[in-house]
Amino acid sequence: MSTRISHITYYVDIRSAYVQFLGCNFTCPWCIRRLTPWDHHLNNNELARLKFQGLLSMDEFLEIINYAITNYGLEEAVLGGEEPTIDPALPMIIRDLRNRKLRTRILTNAYEISGELLNELRQCINCETVVGIKTLDPNKHIKYTGKLLEPILRNIRRLIEDNVRVIFETVLIPGLNDVEDIEEIAKYLASIVRDPVLIIDPLIPKPGTPWRRPTQEELGGAMRRAGKYVRVITHETSGRPSRVIVLYPRPRYKLAK
Ligand code: SF4
Repeated sequence: MSTRISHITYYVDIRSAYVQFLGCNFTCPWCIRRLTPWDHHLNNNELARLKFQGLLSMDEFLEIINYAITNYGLEEAVLGGEEPTIDPALPMIIRDLRNRKLRTRILTNAYEISGELLNELRQCINCETVVGIKTLDPNKHIKYTGKLLEPILRNIRRLIEDNVRVIFETVLIPGLNDVEDIEEIAKYLASIVRDPVLIIDPLIPKPGTPWRRPTQEELGGAMRRAGKYVRVITHETSGRPSRVIVLYPRPRYKLAK
């Protein structure tokens, strides 16, 4: 069976693989993937060497995961990049990672959560689903993502009702998803879930778009105001630095063919 996985990096010091899916059902103009299809934590030399080598089959993916467990002591897989839920193989991928007792984080916009996926997430005690909320304004949502907001809110409720471990993420975008908008997101989360956690990331601006990077003061303000309702995390301060290597596509890991 084929997957939508196009790229896998490995964070050596935290024993975590970042498994990256190609393609998304949203059209966010600020999407960092429009800057590079590769993990932007890689250095420029590494980025220049990378060449697309096709999407992995399920067998090839598991071969890489087994290799990383044996040779690097892999403990965690993060499923993200673009949108993992567009991959019909995602439930099987989660099941195979669970069978290997790996901690698994799924980064998703939660627009499409199939019954099969929900079932896998429900059974996976080592899984955490991170739902990205772009905005709670329905008009802005459809304007920028191309999709309605309502299915996402419905899917968040399904995840919570099914006791899936879920936390949330949003991007502070001055002029689009401002400090007060993030406070509203936090307030909303506090009304639907017990002890909510919200990751707030500052926008990394993309050339040709009108939005700037927020200042540290703005980020601090968003964290303070959201912190009245939710537990707030930001990757700006919480990320542990780690060496990053490429597992796919590249010769460092050669598939047995
Ligand atoms: S949902 Fe995420 S991956 Fe998809 S376009 Fe938006 S920012 Fe990019």
